[in-house]
Amino acid sequence: PAGKGAQLLELPARFRDGDAGAAGAARYARGSASEALQAKVAQAGAEDAFFVADLGEVKRQFAQWTQLLPRVQPFFAVKCNPDRLVVKLLAQLGAGFDCASKGELEQVLGEGVAAERVIYAHPCKPASHLRYAAARGVELMTFDNGDELHKIRQLHPGAKAVLRILADDSSARCRLGLKFGAAPDAAPALLRLAVRLGVDVVGVSFHVGSGCQSEAAFGDAVERARRVFDSAAALGLRLTLLDVGGGFPGAGELGGLDFASLAAVLRAAIDRHFPPAAYAHVRVIAEPGRYFVASAFSLAVNVVARRRVEGAAPAFMYYVNDGVYGSFNCIVFDHQRPRPRLLSPRDAPLFASSVWGPTCDSIDCIMSDGQLPELQIGDWLVFDNMGAYTLCAASRFNGFNLSDLVYVDTEGALL
Ligand code: PLP
Repeated sequence: PAGKGAQLLELPARFRDGDAGAAGAARYARGSASEALQAKVAQAGAEDAFFVADLGEVKRQFAQWTQLLPRVQPFFAVKCNPDRLVVKLLAQLGAGFDCASKGELEQVLGEGVAAERVIYAHPCKPASHLRYAAARGVELMTFDNGDELHKIRQLHPGAKAVLRILADDSSARCRLGLKFGAAPDAAPALLRLAVRLGVDVVGVSFHVGSGCQSEAAFGDAVERARRVFDSAAALGLRLTLLDVGGGFPGAGELGGLDFASLAAVLRAAIDRHFPPAAYAHVRVIAEPGRYFVASAFSLAVNVVARRRVEGAAPAFMYYVNDGVYGSFNCIVFDHQRPRPRLLSPRDAPLFASSVWGPTCDSIDCIMSDGQLPELQIGDWLVFDNMGAYTLCAASRFNGFNLSDLVYVDTEGALL
């Protein structure tokens, strides 16, 4: 029976102050993610879209990271999913944090994370945000141009600057190099400028692009970083930090890289270009975002309307209650292609089907060309792997609320 084994509970008080979860009224359930899905839809009057977030999945991803990349300390890229419990959990597990703004710094520091465990990993920072970092003792930060160095010298003279260089991101779903990263041959001049200004450059970072599809890009970027270490050494600078950025695949992502083989390539590249014997003084960190959270969140949406398409073969358009202006903004910004499954699967003929979000706009299309059994109004669809770059960029366009949130922890007690 629906809901058997899982009961929806109020979050413990220590998680409830402030805005816990999307709608600020998140619940949690004991049991599995699918039990939580069933429990939520079995509630009287249930029709709002909601996420089930499995913190246990984040724990498993963390454990896998520690096992396969023991030399690389992960700094979770908060932008990917600033969910309060995810941040709390990763803080407890010992992760560092990559923050991109004052708001993210406030959140992470507000969780009691020490400033030394934070990198302000945005190469182009607003002055007020930089001042805030200085006031709160966040020293580690990236830069990729001379103007930023002048700004850092003026507003945060105690900063430990990390030069972000361009990596080959040509295979990535989101090519960050179009916007950030110093060309490798510009690095020596930037290092000289830093020396002249008295800005303390401590390391090198790169980002192979989010949704990277090439293991080799990581190896190549590590080699580029090593060349910058050599240029720095020629200027008398002893760099101590290598930041290999983000771009690691989420578990369960269709067509993504395999994390284990990527980790093997990265381990080998780090060991080759930064052999531990000669580079024991170099600390290696990374800024994974989607890796930790993509597979931890599933989104359940309710069919609120449907339309039969006239034509030779039967086809259906379904309208559901979260869309491209909401959690499915990942289709536009992150180039994801979410695919639904039925919450209650059934053996039935399939029909050409499209799935649309709730707003009045026709760009609000979640899937244009799927095959689904005939659905009825009130049926539930589930989209898995919805934890990365979804809720964090959702809007309330057309007056629709953000989707609700239910937590589970399949690896023990909540947090
Ligand atoms: N670091 C920086 C500077 C980024 O801009 C991003 C994503 O945009 C990330 C890390 C996280 O990337 P990913 O989620 O692909 O690991």
